Amino acid sequence: MQLKGTRLEVNLEALAHNYHYLRSKISEDTKFMSVVKANAYGHGMVPIAQKLQELGTDYFATAYMEEGVELRDNGIIKPILILHPQQHNLDVCIDRCLEPVIYSMEMLDAFTASAKAKQQQSYPIHLEFNTGLNRIGIDHKDVDNVLEKLSSSPEVKVRGLQSHLAASEDLGESVFTQKQIALFEEITSKVQQKLGYEILKHESNTSGLLNYKNAHFSMVRSGIGLYGYGNDAQYDAHLKPIATLISNISQIRTIEAGETVSYNRKFVAKGRTTYAVVALGHGDGINRIYGYGKLEVRINGKSAPTLGIICMDMFMVDMSSIEAKVGDEVVIFDPHIHTSRQMAEDAGTISYELLTGIQKRVRRVYLNNASN
Ligand SMILES: *Cc1c(COP(=O)(O)O)cnc(C)c1O
Repeated sequence: MQLKGTRLEVNLEALAHNYHYLRSKISEDTKFMSVVKANAYGHGMVPIAQKLQELGTDYFATAYMEEGVELRDNGIIKPILILHPQQHNLDVCIDRCLEPVIYSMEMLDAFTASAKAKQQQSYPIHLEFNTGLNRIGIDHKDVDNVLEKLSSSPEVKVRGLQSHLAASEDLGESVFTQKQIALFEEITSKVQQKLGYEILKHESNTSGLLNYKNAHFSMVRSGIGLYGYGNDAQYDAHLKPIATLISNISQIRTIEAGETVSYNRKFVAKGRTTYAVVALGHGDGINRIYGYGKLEVRINGKSAPTLGIICMDMFMVDMSSIEAKVGDEVVIFDPHIHTSRQMAEDAGTISYELLTGIQKRVRRVYLNNASN
């Protein structure tokens, strides 16, 4: 394993720690679904899922069919929920044993037709009801319509019911969240009664899991928590960010007062300025919002702010007060001193967006796979 050059180091021991911590917050009989969509929030879907399968997760979730297929192609045998299936490739769902979230009446019709064409019986599906996020989901007024359709659709069978909380990380919205929980309870008990058998019920993401014990139901769906963030300082203290983004210095230059750095000449030196060119840019996921000093990287333990516009393959940082040489490491974010959450928030975004945006060409390196 080459610990040189631009790379995202992913600590699998920290992943295991987070998994165990989150599991310790739910009861023994509550199932744990690991959300690994969007390349496991940028950390590399397959190695992350393989580790989580080894740790004993009950379920996986991805957003799209292609992601589920990639998991199946790489040894994932646990159930996989597809959170946001699209109509054009529903066949794949059945071929690869993936469980679709049915989030609209149109999707119910389309999936039932696909299951029928493939001569399925009781193919497992999850129904998503909208309880207030107002994103995807079946309207709760359509519960009876759905149940009626299902009673004449032996090709599918409800395995689970889901909803998604709109503001589980914001305790100022707890009245609204409790309303969502109550509505979900009402829907689930109605459906359960009609179906006459036990189904899985799941409504919580990471913050729902941490903030609302009464929203655990029979399964929780956790993503960001596994990667080290609880959307709250109290929980962040127990979780460990699993990734460190590192690059290196490609060149060091010194300019005089009045000279400019990067495209459009937006940074103008006030005096003699020594700066480093870092081998990372918006083509790697360090977006232009991080330019003009909005990001401070660390070189030999010292902070170096960005200068001017972020380019596609590189950005520049002021190192007037830093001793360093070409090839030295540049730490963009790490689990302790300058976290990806801090970096994202300083620039006005969230860790989810920063992490999922880290592009494919940044090599992922996995550390500490032996222990769990
Ligand atoms: C992404 C997603 C999750 C995971 O959310 P986290 O906040 O990362 O835990 C859970 N459920 C649904 C429906 C999602 O889209």
